[in-house]
Amino acid sequence: MRDHRLVGHLSCLIGLALCACGAASDARPNILLLVVDTLRWDHLGCYGYERDTSPAIDALAADAVRFENAYAPAPWTLPTVTSILTGLYPSSHGVTSIGKHLSSDVRSLAELLREEGYGTAAVTSNNLLRQDLHYGRGHDLFEAEPGGHNLMTTPGVTERVLAHLDRLGEGVAPFYLFALLFDPHYSYLPHPEYGFAPKRAGRLDGSQPIQVLRELGETLSAKELQFIRDLYDEEIRYTDEGIGQILAGLEERGLDRNTVVVVVADHGEEFMRHGWIGHSRNLYEDLVHVPLIIRDPAMARRGRSEPRPVSLVSLTPTLLDLAGVDSGETPFQAPSLKGVLRGSDEDAGEPVFCEVDFVPILKQEKRAHMRSVLVDGFKLIRDVETGALELYNLERDPHETRNLAETRVRKVAELEEVLESRSTFAGSRLRAAETTPLSDEDLEMLEGLGYVER
Ligand SMILES: [Zn+2]
Repeated sequence: MRDHRLVGHLSCLIGLALCACGAASDARPNILLLVVDTLRWDHLGCYGYERDTSPAIDALAADAVRFENAYAPAPWTLPTVTSILTGLYPSSHGVTSIGKHLSSDVRSLAELLREEGYGTAAVTSNNLLRQDLHYGRGHDLFEAEPGGHNLMTTPGVTERVLAHLDRLGEGVAPFYLFALLFDPHYSYLPHPEYGFAPKRAGRLDGSQPIQVLRELGETLSAKELQFIRDLYDEEIRYTDEGIGQILAGLEERGLDRNTVVVVVADHGEEFMRHGWIGHSRNLYEDLVHVPLIIRDPAMARRGRSEPRPVSLVSLTPTLLDLAGVDSGETPFQAPSLKGVLRGSDEDAGEPVFCEVDFVPILKQEKRAHMRSVLVDGFKLIRDVETGALELYNLERDPHETRNLAETRVRKVAELEEVLESRSTFAGSRLRAAETTPLSDEDLEMLEGLGYVER
């Protein structure tokens, strides 16, 4: 009895001591959301890549939950990042093409957290994510590191994030900090200090823009394609160094024990496996299967991997859940992963959807308009324009080389029904996205990023 009372007194004293130093007066966790542009899951050490591209991300994964089958809802930046920040699929938030931005009646993660008293800040380095579109909404401070396809932005983003940590970490309220690191996006620039790429290979020396690589397309030799991947890996390692500095900065400031850290990609990249270099044109695994790592300070078992397929649409509900925010009536379209993180969720998982409706601006006829669904290891892709169907058994055929749509008719029908019911549901929830006209300057910037075809 006496002992229990003593323990009670001690914990009160410890509680008071923690309250007195300010930082723990609010028990809600801080949230650090790091989105890496164009980062393939299978080019990271913690996902089995043989090259040492990601020591910092690997170290985080060893202390976190690593989702083996995480899916971006779209194969390019605008729709996916908008989904990450709203908990809605692209066909519901409506930000499916360049020039569109979020309807003002949808509240973003930053807005919802700010309403709960969180300090909010964002640092982006992708010129598509601008404050004057919807991405600045809900942030006390929004900074854009000057970006572009031929600039390196990781050091600038890292520096700004660390400055935000200094400022936000001293506040009494918890914080939400969102940053986007851009460098693995083309152009793939050499970082010879890592030594992954030779000086040149065949016709390439690292100075060719994406348009030239696409023109070479099918004529690229195996050696040239490997050179492109080598440069891409150097960009990943360069970005990983920035992430390492940010995570070390979190620890140095004593913030790591009360901060949920998420590292995720907005989409992958394809290197001619399906006839194209880049992203935004299809829904193959190269583009929509992405890395997702979440470190939740309150989770019991760290350093584990989670095999069930999840969508990045789950991130907003998950982060609000971890922050203890009751999102009430807010209609998110994928479940919170808090139960999965805490190891208490027995749910077998839900179907995961992906969507693309991409128009390369000047060539409207090259619209890519598809939807896909993944259930029990089978993925069905439907071309919305032509009605063409593709079915893949991802366990046996992870690179999607054998279309089973003709032979597995019952499976196709089963998945089509799931896809159809969801499309109807999402369409009924569509919020009218707003449109901003594109300036000549915008067009030039977009061409550099490879989103305009002439
Ligand atoms: Zn992107």
